[in-house]
Amino acid sequence: MIISTHELRENRKHLIDQLTAFDGKILRGSVIESFKKCGKPGCKCVTGTGHGPKYSMTVNFPKRKPENIYIPLEYVTQVKEFVSNYHQFKEIVEQICIINRELLKRREEL
Ligand SMILES: [Zn+2]
Repeated sequence: MIISTHELRENRKHLIDQLTAFDGKILRGSVIESFKKCGKPGCKCVTGTGHGPKYSMTVNFPKRKPENIYIPLEYVTQVKEFVSNYHQFKEIVEQICIINRELLKRREEL
């Protein structure tokens, strides 16, 4: 079944609304959970998993070293949500691009 050009534009509007709904709550990167050994002799962390968890995020860049940012405990849930939102955001952007390519193939107004 072929989707009409009108429908394509309607779908695109819907996708744009979804992007807007994120309200800028996006973050690119990944959240890292770590447990550190403090090095103090006799500390329980010597045998255990280490102190923590502590959280940070890593952001990769094409031509420079990754950026690491410490995440205060009270922001961890929010940061994880923003990171998850980013993946959805990107997926929606791709969907919009697919529609725009289709419009271009049909030689319809973009
Ligand atoms: Zn320790």
